[in-house]
Amino acid sequence: MADERWQNLSPGDLSVTLPEVVATPVEPALAASAEVAASWARTPLAERIERLRGAQRALVEAKDELARGISIETGKPITEAQGEVGAVIAKIDLTIADAEQHLADRTHLGGPHPALIRQHARGPAVVIGPFNFPLHLGHGANVAHLLAGNPVIYKPSPLAANVAARYAEIVAPHFPAGVFQLVQGGGAAGEALCLDPRVRAVCFTGSVPVGRTLAQKLAGDFAKDVALELGGSNALLVCADADLDKAAQAAAEGACLTAGQRCNATSRVIVERAVAAAFERKFLAALAVFEPGDPLSPATKLGPVISAAAVARYAKLCAERRGAWLLPGRAEPVVAGKRGHFIRPAVLQREDDGRADAECFVPIISLFIADDLDHAVRLQSAPPFGLTASIFTQSEATFRALGAHLEVGNLYANLPTTFSPSTLPFGGWRESGNGRPGGRGFIRFTTREQAVQWSGFPASS
Ligand code: NAD
Repeated sequence: MADERWQNLSPGDLSVTLPEVVATPVEPALAASAEVAASWARTPLAERIERLRGAQRALVEAKDELARGISIETGKPITEAQGEVGAVIAKIDLTIADAEQHLADRTHLGGPHPALIRQHARGPAVVIGPFNFPLHLGHGANVAHLLAGNPVIYKPSPLAANVAARYAEIVAPHFPAGVFQLVQGGGAAGEALCLDPRVRAVCFTGSVPVGRTLAQKLAGDFAKDVALELGGSNALLVCADADLDKAAQAAAEGACLTAGQRCNATSRVIVERAVAAAFERKFLAALAVFEPGDPLSPATKLGPVISAAAVARYAKLCAERRGAWLLPGRAEPVVAGKRGHFIRPAVLQREDDGRADAECFVPIISLFIADDLDHAVRLQSAPPFGLTASIFTQSEATFRALGAHLEVGNLYANLPTTFSPSTLPFGGWRESGNGRPGGRGFIRFTTREQAVQWSGFPASS
């Protein structure tokens, strides 16, 4: 992708070319952010909340337009896109509630002197977004930083630049100049923003390789908070006592929502041998409803993937992975008379060959058979990720015993691996993140904490 200017095609209808996007120079944005940081930090929380409420009202008015924008530019089915915009709007209420708690001074008793713990704004924040949730994920960090008193520069994925621009056009006028800015660009712009010494916080959501590079380059900048939300290779475990119908449906949904392009997508199913054959039959039947279709149709459950590169990656993975194909995936260049990046889910029965998969980020599901629950845990933890895992069992004791061994930031019983409501924190262990969960409570990473003690004042002061 050119770093200066580019045009996106709609993945569900390649005859639709979106408006040209021009990259934003980073230096003026960084200078404006640094310039406004002190005054925004001094702005009372009540005013920051009021401004955000104004932005929220404007987002509500634009919700249908934004959902359509997400669907056209990324190929996300319209019902999912509507869900994303709903989450954007609701996130403001949740984060205001978090801010009111987290930003208040806390009196500290029990020490030798009167004391309190106080939160201070950090300064300019950079938020880098991925393409798959082009509004919701960046927005969560944007809102938390704005409430904490940090000006924000938001750099969305270039693959979702138009809908992100519309979001920023709606939000920015509710804040003083320089407090909320959009920078359009690719990796070079993202890196220039993150590495700039004026920036005091980075929130990056994207792939492990890019996150690792950033973390390495920023390792010496101790004063910069770096939050990394990265990829996964999430497993759904099916125990012998599971409700197989529910497990099959959850596995199909987890694999196919957003065409497998979710960090919490189900890409592996680990099933106990005793029920493997029965589960396979039900799983293949559950996948049948995920037929590629026009993302703008409310009936569509499986939209296209984002790009020709994603289709090529899918084809390469299908060709390379070894095992027995239960459902040989295939690309569908034309669906309902429109050219697009459509693919079908692929299911591969795998041997436990000790090899750890990389994140696939397309609907390719590897089915593993476990001899027992210890084997299931070994299979689950083979890849170096730790984002989500779900255990299907009717026994709470089995869930607790098995769950205790799974190193993941998000653990579920009898729910899809994609079930991640905004009311909870969301973050990855191991290579899926660096211990700064997003979602609920992210605000705690947006401030610097100060312990304040005092003595020697006259009692009346
Ligand atoms: P990506 O890593 O290719 O790009 C993400 C963003 O980083 C884009 O805005 C890109 O322009 C920018 N970028 C690229 N190089 C950069 C650099 N050197 N410095 C700074 N910014 C740079 O990811 P993607 O393909 O857009 O998104 C998919 C990935 O995101 C998947 O790996 C997925 O698992 C992950 N993801 C994680 C979460 C989570 O919460 N853990 C959520 C959604 C997506």
